[in-house]
Amino acid sequence: MIAYCTHCWREVSSADTVCPKCKADLTLDNRTYEEKLIGALAHPLPEARVRICWLIGKNHTCEAVPDLMRLAMVDEDLFVRRAALETLGELKDTRAMQLLREVSRCDNRFLAATALKSLQKIGEKNDCVSCSG
Ligand SMILES: [Zn+2]
Repeated sequence: MIAYCTHCWREVSSADTVCPKCKADLTLDNRTYEEKLIGALAHPLPEARVRICWLIGKNHTCEAVPDLMRLAMVDEDLFVRRAALETLGELKDTRAMQLLREVSRCDNRFLAATALKSLQKIGEKNDCVSCSG
């Protein structure tokens, strides 16, 4: 099984007690794995935030939905926003439907297409595809 440092989210060996990359003590964190994942959405590197979104989808961490919704709206990095939108579809959480509907009609086709796909995953029939953009 692959282990991740819960501070920098780079891959580590499960035998490591200190992260070889960021030197964090890997034995000292008492938060649950879910709490660590959600906390990591604030990671300064966009590539890391994208990876965390993906991990949240794989783990079905539905507690992350409010944070994903925030990222999908305000993250400065388009790829992070897209990853958050994709993950909201992956989690099939109906709380995200209003937001996805709004984004599916936004001017950014890159994000709009992703939001639409996620909406379809959740099972929403989009009644207004043609008015996007
Ligand atoms: Zn680390």
